[in-house]
Amino acid sequence: MKTSDLYPPLLSAIWEASACCEAIASEFLDSDHQTKSDQSPVTIADYASQALIQYRLRELTPELGVVAEEAAEPLRTDKDLVERIASFTSRFEPMVNADTLLDLLDRGSHEGGKGTFWTLDPIDGTKGYLRGGQYAIALALVEKGHPSLGLLGCPRYELEEGISGVVFSGGEGIPAQVWTSKRATPRKIKSCSEVDLSQARLCESVESAHTAHDLSAKVIKSLGISSDILRMDSQAKYASVAHGASALYLRLPVKKGYREKIWDHAAGLAVIEAAGGRVSDLNGNKLDFSQGETLTKNRGVIASNGTLHHAALAALLAHTPEASRWE
Ligand code: AMP
Ligand code: MG
Repeated sequence: MKTSDLYPPLLSAIWEASACCEAIASEFLDSDHQTKSDQSPVTIADYASQALIQYRLRELTPELGVVAEEAAEPLRTDKDLVERIASFTSRFEPMVNADTLLDLLDRGSHEGGKGTFWTLDPIDGTKGYLRGGQYAIALALVEKGHPSLGLLGCPRYELEEGISGVVFSGGEGIPAQVWTSKRATPRKIKSCSEVDLSQARLCESVESAHTAHDLSAKVIKSLGISSDILRMDSQAKYASVAHGASALYLRLPVKKGYREKIWDHAAGLAVIEAAGGRVSDLNGNKLDFSQGETLTKNRGVIASNGTLHHAALAALLAHTPEASRWE
């Protein structure tokens, strides 16, 4: 199927998942939130969003595997939780119900690699989702180690006053756009044209466990950047750079040995590159999505409007003593 034919049904799946996540947020119970073995949070909305999108992907591209963040395993012995998730998903798609939910979630266990596959983060930034902050529904098509199409649903992202809850999209040979509602004509977006690093607006994760806040603070001080760093959960940060609200997104490794997950970056990267921006790791290397679930070969991430990329990388290196460089 041609990418242009995939667009309308994929967008509609992202809108549907966004609406479902917000419906769950408005009726949230304590029991809808659990902790995974790595201590990260997961909610019934993560499962609901994943199942709704998997349903659509199975219809559209049954031949393609999906590398998705969640797995059906924790739900297998919890019939009540399955029923509760299905009570939301079936409002949006009757075929995503208690009988089909686990099988749909199981379709997300592809191992990735060098071929063509989807990668999905059904709720990127679950912590943001839980605290009323940003989160994203992030879907990307990966071909030969590079994301060729990305869709980023940002249900709480305020594009401008009065317009919030949007979907960003873009890819190779596909314009970067933002969709402000299901029916509105999309708007083209592009990264900002800032050429002066001291005027750059930076964004980074809210979580100090996900990025080194102390290092980014040092860098902005030394560059004489006066604007505050914009802290946001999820790939909404990529969206912010893609439409020019920020010029740089830094993700500076905190935990030795941590490798970024492909679903945390693929959709954002596709949108930013289509918008004229650039993404690399902190050594200036391209992100390599052909290594399975993680970006094994890369350390940290920097995304930029393009023009500031080199200068920002150099500034970062200058402020990171060799001994404490990312491993
Ligand atoms: P953010 O909202 O930008 O903080 O990113 C959320 C994502 O951070 C989650 O989806 C996790 O996959 C990922 N994550 C978890 N632990 C780490 C870590 N130690 N360093 C970087 N990212 C992490
Ligand atoms: Mg994530």
